[in-house]
Amino acid sequence: MHRAIAVPLRGGTETPPLAGATYTANVGQQFRVVSPHLDDAALSCSRFAVAHPHARLLTVFAGGPARVDPLPPWDRAARFFRDGDDVTAIRRAEDRAACEILEAIPEHLDFWDGQYRSAAYGYTGPADAALEAAISLRLERLAASDPVDAWLVPLGLGHSDHRLTSDVCLALAQRTDLVTYVYGDLPYCAEREDEVLERLHSLAQRGFALVEKTPTKPEGSSAHKREAVRAHRSQRRSLGRRARRAVRATERRWALSRTST
Ligand SMILES: [Zn+2]
Repeated sequence: MHRAIAVPLRGGTETPPLAGATYTANVGQQFRVVSPHLDDAALSCSRFAVAHPHARLLTVFAGGPARVDPLPPWDRAARFFRDGDDVTAIRRAEDRAACEILEAIPEHLDFWDGQYRSAAYGYTGPADAALEAAISLRLERLAASDPVDAWLVPLGLGHSDHRLTSDVCLALAQRTDLVTYVYGDLPYCAEREDEVLERLHSLAQRGFALVEKTPTKPEGSSAHKREAVRAHRSQRRSLGRRARRAVRATERRWALSRTST
């Protein structure tokens, strides 16, 4: 069980802007959903986005080589691309289509997807801690130049890029006054309850209090979510029934605060 504490939030209020059953009173507030890959916001937060129009859907790893040759295993399994395709451009276009369905605003950073971060694809960008620092700097600048009322960041399940994105966002929440909520990465969150519990425990040990704020009534619309997920056409085959699982699943989220500095 996590202990909730009140922390001063931006605007001088101690009431989080997003509070389960009362979320409809906060429709006018602006949110930024941080998505590790180009389909993660659609899979994990479509219902939320529909309930909160004009949310920014920021994808961190929306970059890659202009020509992907040969296709790495994930892209090959999609049976959608050909060797040499600009996979990133295709997937960015899919994300823009999904955002249109959700009335959301796409934001794409150019950090390379993990499957391309090797010399074989000509990657010369930062790795490991330097990559985390570079992403952190970009997010911090964005928070300053285009502030919103709250950020939704991934719990960090199922994939190393998700974990990395989550860790960067949590570090940011730790040293700034960003109002932050954590969302469960789907479909992993509906498949790996052990990992969810482990990750929540690990965050508590790092000095965070997480209070579950999953809406008691379904928000948004499952039809919009289904369409937004389907807009990621290239991923249909790879995700298969797991996409349907993500559409049916409850979009879980938690309010994040610090128990220590
Ligand atoms: Zn992902």
